[in-house]
Amino acid sequence: MKTLKKLFLLLIVVALIAAGVFYFRDTKAPQVSLTPGSGPISKTTKLLLSLNDAGMGIKNVQVVVIQGDNQFPLIKRDFQPQTKNNDLELDLSVLKLQEGALQIEVSTTDQSVYHLGKGNTARESFTLTYDTRPPIISVLSKAHNFTKGGSGLVTYSLNEEVEKTGVQFEGHFFPAYQQESGNYACLFAYPYYVKEKDFVPQVIARDLAGNERPAGIYYRANNKKFRQRRINISDNFLAQKTPEFEGLVAGVSEPLDIFLYVNREIRKENRAKMAELSRQTAATPLWQGNFRRQPKAATLALFADYRTYYYKGKQIDKTVHLGHDLASVAQDELIAENFGEVIWAEYLGIYGLCVVVDHGLGLQSLYAHMSQLEVQVGDRVDRGQVIGRSGTTGLAGGDHLHLGVFVSGVAVQPIEWWDKHWLQNNIDSKL
Ligand SMILES: [Zn+2]
Repeated sequence: MKTLKKLFLLLIVVALIAAGVFYFRDTKAPQVSLTPGSGPISKTTKLLLSLNDAGMGIKNVQVVVIQGDNQFPLIKRDFQPQTKNNDLELDLSVLKLQEGALQIEVSTTDQSVYHLGKGNTARESFTLTYDTRPPIISVLSKAHNFTKGGSGLVTYSLNEEVEKTGVQFEGHFFPAYQQESGNYACLFAYPYYVKEKDFVPQVIARDLAGNERPAGIYYRANNKKFRQRRINISDNFLAQKTPEFEGLVAGVSEPLDIFLYVNREIRKENRAKMAELSRQTAATPLWQGNFRRQPKAATLALFADYRTYYYKGKQIDKTVHLGHDLASVAQDELIAENFGEVIWAEYLGIYGLCVVVDHGLGLQSLYAHMSQLEVQVGDRVDRGQVIGRSGTTGLAGGDHLHLGVFVSGVAVQPIEWWDKHWLQNNIDSKL
């Protein structure tokens, strides 16, 4: 009898301990997060509510949107047992909201038996600003004339802060930069490879809530035909260039294959590098007046020459020449063509030893095939300042300067920037 009683007491103690463990097993409320959880939002902003309960799991959630005296119930949901976490997308577009501040109140309870069976409840409130109005774009500049392969500028004002603004058309975006006046200036290109029908530049502006609006500009686009050029690759040229490129091309030993690899793959990499460098630009123009063409040099090749390469009479490759080639005497002094800051001064594939100068607003000049550099990254250069000497490094057959001009990483016609009248009419007068 005594043993039975002891056993019974023991069972009660064990049951109490088990009940206690069960009761105190989960005393923590679920975790709530909302992304974005503050700042401006629009009708289309994706609001993601994440619920997480590492203990017994989430039991239910309730979401209410409050604006002034109005309360909008948005979500009321129960979850299956063992739901440890759940992501919900909040769709505010179904509610009749006004512009301005709103609160999103979230209340969620877990499956725990703590608090006399009521479980643990988390209550969170998020304050956001509802903004459904896109920025108003006022285009300030007039008479936009573009020539295929060339550059142009548009200036405009916006009525609110933006996260993205610039000019876009068919697969292209050129960023604009805010000037001291508060207005925006966007330098952009009519790329040599874009068809006339696809060149329809529009200013776009997206505010912090994500509202975006395009604005058309009045413009005239002039077509331009570029030259076709035939380039013969000789064994002599290959023998001269192979030692320089061997180290860049792994697993290729034939001189012609090395050349083709450099002409295709390394060229692609180098152009990607120029696009990357374009982001290192001053927000205001550093140039002053027209670019100064290298004084004594004669033109060797033009911008956007379509080149076909031949070896022993057979066609082997095609590229487009994205600069203006100039030559005078060997190892001639080269000048910076305008004021700016050096952002690259070292070897770069097909360009060999080269210098890139940033002139602001995404405008940059490249001086390629040099034999000697006299500037370093970070140097401020003046128009006409000697930056080094010409040479044959990179993909160059003879001593010359390959001058590249880029607008936000897109190669453009250098001759426009040498032309005082073009510059005054199309760029400087608008700034
Ligand atoms: Zn060239």
